[in-house]
Amino acid sequence: MTDLLDSLFAGRAGGFRPSPVRDFWEVSMEPGIISLAGGNPDLSVLPLDALGEVAARVIRERGLEVLQYGGGTGAPGAREAAARTMAAEGLDVDPDLVQVTAGSQLGLDLVVKLLCDPGDVVLAEGPSYVGAIGLFVGMQVDVAHVPIDGDGLLPEALAETIARVRAAGRRVKALYTIPNFHNPSGVTLAAERRPEVARICRDAGIAIIEDNPYGLLSFDGGTLPSLRSLDPDNVIYLGSFSKVVAPGLRVGWVVAPESLRRPLQLASEATVICASVLSQAVVEEYVLRHDWLDVLAGARGRYQARATAVLDALATGAGPDVTWSVPRGGFFTWVTLPAGTDVHAVLDAAIERRVVFVPGSAFYADGGGAEQLRLAFSLEREEVLAEGVRRLLDAVTEVTT
Ligand code: PMP
Repeated sequence: MTDLLDSLFAGRAGGFRPSPVRDFWEVSMEPGIISLAGGNPDLSVLPLDALGEVAARVIRERGLEVLQYGGGTGAPGAREAAARTMAAEGLDVDPDLVQVTAGSQLGLDLVVKLLCDPGDVVLAEGPSYVGAIGLFVGMQVDVAHVPIDGDGLLPEALAETIARVRAAGRRVKALYTIPNFHNPSGVTLAAERRPEVARICRDAGIAIIEDNPYGLLSFDGGTLPSLRSLDPDNVIYLGSFSKVVAPGLRVGWVVAPESLRRPLQLASEATVICASVLSQAVVEEYVLRHDWLDVLAGARGRYQARATAVLDALATGAGPDVTWSVPRGGFFTWVTLPAGTDVHAVLDAAIERRVVFVPGSAFYADGGGAEQLRLAFSLEREEVLAEGVRRLLDAVTEVTT
């Protein structure tokens, strides 16, 4: 019998694709596999006893509040924790402006719902975050990639892309950008480019969606001025506790310009009613009453050591035609293989050698990234990462010679 639903699907139903990163989950879990694929934070730095105590206490002492439905913009304590997190990056924001969301992925979903009609165009770095591309494509929004170099978005290329898309009669709504320790490329938008990017978007009448889950994860503890600080009336800022506390809590936030704030709240209420009140309370207690920035400093040190292990292994073993980005924070480096290399053949050869990575094409909406790949260094120990890179480079040699 045919399934009645088959004829009832909405036009966009086929647009949601499996995430290529999550596709590698299963193979990553096989014994003996070294995974350079998933960009999960290392949670082993977390003070689990203290967090367990926090969770037990909020239920014991505030159970009737935190197990109940909560307000549509988020709990006051979680909004305060979001503002403090931004303050740790040098950004001064009134907690009243914070819209709490169930992870920043939901924040992006709500923003796309409110800004984009099917057929609209969003600009994004080429490459860009796979979860954002999946959302844009699923929502029938086209992505125009803007080239980057080791200092992030190229401002001239941004202006050219806007002009080209418009010349084709298309409507551009926003630039979606990850300025700090970009996923997947690892690069950071240079400080001197930031005002230019903000100005180009404002002059062109398009919004900026600034996605900043990694901003507090610089290896040297430094921060750069956010795009929001440069043009608060034209930048929608997405924040997240996923990489600096824990992704399983599913707490992120949006700070939007005035006109978007109420629609965001209503769209959020229509979608999830409210983010988990229990998770928000755990975040509030942890961020406002624990030395969580010290815990984070420890995590940053680990990530830096792991990045160094990967970069050293690449420098030692890679042929002259292999290049890679040098991240100053975050979880990733982006590798470009010799021209003409079939990265999927490299992936097959790598899996035979028990190492896995995500091919570059996952991070493009338009088939780009054919000779590139992302390496995540956030989770494995240094010696394991170095061994993973050695195996990967063996796979590259096998495919290219
Ligand atoms: N943006 C970027 C750039 C990410 O890398 C991720 C997670 N991998 C997200 C957003 C989603 O984060 P959250 O867990 O807050 O939904």
